[in-house]
Amino acid sequence: MLCRLARAAVPGLSVPWVRWSRNWAGVPARVVDLRSDTVTRPGPAMRRAMAEAVVGDDDYGEDPTVRELQEKAAKLLGVEQTLFVPTNTMANLISVMGHCRRRGSQVLLGQECHLHVYELGGVAQIAGVHSHPLPDMPHGTLDLNELERALTRCFGSSYHPVCELVCLENTHSSAGGRVLPIDYLRQVRLLAHAHGARVHLDGARLMNAAVALHVPPARLVEHCDSVSFCFSKGLGAPVGALVGGSKDFIEEAWRLRKALGGGMRQAGVLAAAALVGLAEAEEVLPRDHENAQRFAKGLQDLASPICSVDPATVETNMVLVQVAGLPPAELCQHLQAVSAEEVARTGCAVSVLLYPWTEHSVRTVWHRDVSAQDTELVLRKWEFVLRQLTP
Ligand SMILES: *Cc1c(COP(=O)(O)O)cnc(C)c1O
Repeated sequence: MLCRLARAAVPGLSVPWVRWSRNWAGVPARVVDLRSDTVTRPGPAMRRAMAEAVVGDDDYGEDPTVRELQEKAAKLLGVEQTLFVPTNTMANLISVMGHCRRRGSQVLLGQECHLHVYELGGVAQIAGVHSHPLPDMPHGTLDLNELERALTRCFGSSYHPVCELVCLENTHSSAGGRVLPIDYLRQVRLLAHAHGARVHLDGARLMNAAVALHVPPARLVEHCDSVSFCFSKGLGAPVGALVGGSKDFIEEAWRLRKALGGGMRQAGVLAAAALVGLAEAEEVLPRDHENAQRFAKGLQDLASPICSVDPATVETNMVLVQVAGLPPAELCQHLQAVSAEEVARTGCAVSVLLYPWTEHSVRTVWHRDVSAQDTELVLRKWEFVLRQLTP
């Protein structure tokens, strides 16, 4: 019965058997959730900070904890000001609205970037902005020749939309957490500014990029006119993101946030969690990157014809695994299910949750709730499943 239910479970749906599989066959089942770094839960320090936060009405600019977060983040990112918002999606939308002031103006972005694929076309349906997607290169960068062509075509033309913005993403999540080279950021800014456009950086995982490059985050923002930044990914806060930019830009962002319904009141309880996430980032993120690297190398060592991975492409907390011989969704089901055979063979019961990513790959994301020991368990489970699947 348990076995059947476990097999029927699909990644992404509820995980009810976290609860009732605990003592199954006398072996505690460990659930390791690699679907995203959004699944982290606030730990004791974060919850304590939330409980004890000094708060005020942030819509009046009177919440001291929100102000502290905004000021600290502005220093960290090297921008004049920042604004706390509920989500990175809203931070991106506000940024696009702040830069693209003419209805029907155009934003250039990668065709696989989060803003284009996962944000419900908000820039079109809410901001009246036209997206022009460009092909992404494997590293998550745009081809600079293509970018220049698109910018040149619009520039000064009476027949094309006015291109007011280029959006970049760092780290690039669809590319598997790849880090954009700093010189590339510089080149994009030069091209954009030469054609009357500005640059927005979707930095939902900017801290991961900074940790990977061993540079202060400000080095990655200095070539951009605005930045978004997420607290509820690797930093582990339950809610929250921000927009950063010049003082004028953030003044306008405040109005846009209000218009979008993102003005919050005693938001200090959330900002307090974000502050803890920020303070711990330099300790937590390198560990996540190490675990991702350890997993990639371990999987490569299994030398399976079904799953392959190139550890050299693992730069931050994500690992894309190429899958051959069965649909990725099926592999996910095998990794999630716990069977009597697994317990008999490996002495443990491990349920690994992850998402199919493309038709030929799955994505794993490491985060603060997955330890080095969990990573070993994941590898052991992967080895067991691959052995089962290999004729
Ligand atoms: C998660 C994510 C977002 C959206 O963040 P939310 O806070 O979930 O709205 C935007 N951009 C990137 C690159 C992301 O990974």
